[in-house]
Order: sequence, then C-alpha cells, then structure tokens
Amino acid sequence: MARVLILGGTGDAAELAAKVSFIRGVDHVITSLAGRTRHPSVPEGRVRVGGFGGSTGLAAYLREHQIDILIDATHPFAAQISWHAAEAAKSVAIPHLMLVRPAWNWVTGDHWIEVENTSDAAQAIPATAKRVFLTIGRQELAPFAPLVDRWFLMRMIDPPAPDAIVPQGEVLCDRGPFTLDNERQLLIHYRIDAIVSKNSGGDATYAKIIAARELGIPIIMVQRPAIPPSEQVATAEQALAWLTQVLQ
Ligand code: NAP
Repeated sequence: MARVLILGGTGDAAELAAKVSFIRGVDHVITSLAGRTRHPSVPEGRVRVGGFGGSTGLAAYLREHQIDILIDATHPFAAQISWHAAEAAKSVAIPHLMLVRPAWNWVTGDHWIEVENTSDAAQAIPATAKRVFLTIGRQELAPFAPLVDRWFLMRMIDPPAPDAIVPQGEVLCDRGPFTLDNERQLLIHYRIDAIVSKNSGGDATYAKIIAARELGIPIIMVQRPAIPPSEQVATAEQALAWLTQVLQ
C-alpha cells in the first residue's frame, strides 16, 4: 500500500486530495501547504503546514514519512518548491509527477503585453494607464511602489505583511473564483485602464481576462517561471490516471 505526498496550495491539489484515497493501492495521503494564507481552504485528508527546509529537508521528510509517491500540484508560479520537489524525489528515488494547469492563451480581442517578471511588468504599464488593477497576490507589490503617478487596486487573499512596501491605492481582500459579472463591475467601478496579471491558467480567475477583452483594457501578463523537467499532467483526473498506472 502506497503513501502519497501532494504539494498543494491550489484548487487542483485540493481536488486531487479528495480523490486520491479512493485509488486502489493508496492507504495514506498527506497534503502539504506552505502556510502563506491565514485561513486556507483546507483540503480533505491529512494536512501538514510549513516549509521543509529546501530540497534536503524535503528529501528527509520523504524518507522519514516513508512516502512512496510525490505529486507536485503547486501553483505554476511557485517554482522554488517545484525545483526542490524534483531534486528530492530524485535523491530518494521515488516516482514524481507535476500537475501543471495549462497557461491561458491569447485570443482575438485580447491586448496582452507579455513580460518575464513583475519588475518588468511595472516598467511595461502604458503611460496612459493611470488606474491599474494588480492581481498578482501580495508578495510582489514593491516593484510598483515607485510609480507614484499611478493608482493601484490590489486584490489578494490576505492583506500585505505589515512591513511590506505597498504602492498607493486600495487593497481588496478577496478569494476566487470570480464571476464575469463581478470582474466587469469591478473594472468599471474602479475605472481601471490596465491590469497586471500572472499567467496562472485555470478557470477560477479567467473571468477578468474576458472582462478586460470586452472593455478593451490591456493586460500586462507575467509569464511563468521555468519549472524542472519532469513527468507532467494538466488536470487532477490525469494525475489520478497516472497514479493508477504507477501502482499497477
Ligand atoms: P515558492 O516560492 O515556490 O516556495 C518558497 C518556499 O516555500 C519553498 O522553498 C518551501 O520552503 C515553501 N513552500 C512552498 N510551497 C510549499 C508547500 N506546498 N508545502 C510546503 N512548503 C512549501 O512558493 P510560493 O510562490 O511562495 O507559493 C507558496 C504556496 O502558495 C504554494 O503552495 C503554492 O501552491 C501556493 N500559491 C502560490 C501562488 C503564486 O502566485 N506563487 C498562487 C497561488 C497559490 P522550504 O524551502 O523551507 O521547503
């Protein structure tokens, strides 16, 4: 009987955690959360919280808890933990899978300015855009603070840390999924003329992309960081199929 560790913090990981224990051959499932959000949506089954201490710490955890299979279902922008996971699984020699939800693709009517990181995003905001919607979470707000001639609406789950450098504007604490109607009203109400977003993919936060398309608002789209070469699937269903095969 196999023991499975899921690296979580995403809706995909929660969906996976709810279903993995029904797979024949699995008797133990643990989801790991980083502990960033104050009131996380807690996945079904056993949960542990907090960093492992790099790839060596994670490898030690895998050994100590006799984990047989590691599934990395973290957010596509959580690259550090993914590199650590790939390294740790290799050093312990256990099967390792990455669940990577597909990125959003540009479609006709979208006006995207694609950039590599949030610092470049701050530089790429069009000069005409004075009111900017930041939907990049709370950890990378500082690059926007020097832009004192702009006003920012910043949406995130928990407020910024007390010592964080926060650009001028308003913080809106909210958690997806967001409806198209919500996003349309928000962009109109706050008179937003540009959006900064990560290319997170998935349905939960896609409505803002549609609303921006409808309203002709440009999006500065931050591209995904590099992730380690590994076996990959795109959905929780595909991860379950992979697991079933590995356990045969
Ligand atoms: P990161 O930069 O890749 O990771 C930084 C460190 O946080 C890691 O080295 C690890 O610490 C710890 N960590 C990250 N994910 C962990 C997990 N699932 N379980 C235990 N420790 C974890 O990650 P991040 O971007 O800060 O994201 C943190 C969490 O938030 C992830 O679980 C991710 O799925 C979720 N999330 C991130 C984003 C985003 O935009 N980055 C968006 C939504 C959700 P040690 O080195 O000490 O092990």
